[in-house]
Amino acid sequence: MRRKLVVGNWKMHGSRPANAELLAALVAARPYGGDVAVCVPFVYIQETAATLAGSDLRWGAQDVSAHEQGAYTGEVSAAMLAECGCRYALVGHSERRAYHGESDALVAGKAQAALARGITPIVCVGETLEQRDAGETEAVVKRQLSVVIHQLAHCASEIVVAYEPVWAIGTGRTATPEQAQSVHALLRAQLQAATGHGERMRILYGGSVKADNAATLFAQPDIDGGLIGGASLKAADFIAICRAAN
Ligand code: PEP
Repeated sequence: MRRKLVVGNWKMHGSRPANAELLAALVAARPYGGDVAVCVPFVYIQETAATLAGSDLRWGAQDVSAHEQGAYTGEVSAAMLAECGCRYALVGHSERRAYHGESDALVAGKAQAALARGITPIVCVGETLEQRDAGETEAVVKRQLSVVIHQLAHCASEIVVAYEPVWAIGTGRTATPEQAQSVHALLRAQLQAATGHGERMRILYGGSVKADNAATLFAQPDIDGGLIGGASLKAADFIAICRAAN
């Protein structure tokens, strides 16, 4: 039985007072039925850690360097994130792939760097609208995931996967539960074939998940929770989504 996981991706939002209010509300609303985490901007990780320490809520980063250390101005290493108690790091979010030119190989390197420091990479995959319309969804997500699986080899079963159709992120257009389920099922089959542990691995759905559609999405057999952008910034909405994963 896979335990559900809901992860908030704050993206480049937040301020110290707003974060304090949001985190206090999340702590006060516990317990949730599944695991809950927030991936916050780097500069807020330490304060988030201080607020959530001692609770069962976890925190993480939205990116991580593929390099261990050195002259990589602006990068943050997995060792640094581990020092701040991060449980998770997003890798390969579509905004990083699109705006920062991240390749499948770089994403795989980041996943490997995270795992080497005991941080669970949440590997994001997903197709654009053009790719979906061209019937390429399956090929695209399988290619994105296979590069990571190949690089991680026997550690591949330690990742979390997030299926995030690019056309559903921040657009208000959610994949139907059936559309999402069918991609999740093929990703799980790929994970099972490659690692032998696909049945216990968690595959999250992301893309305009809201309080009113979360329960139906999370009820799908291969959807193990969500990666939540916009709705993770509003305490009431995020709490409702976390509860829907019960
Ligand atoms: C995301 O940023 O990963 C995301 C899914 O965003 P939203 O929920 O706003 O679509």
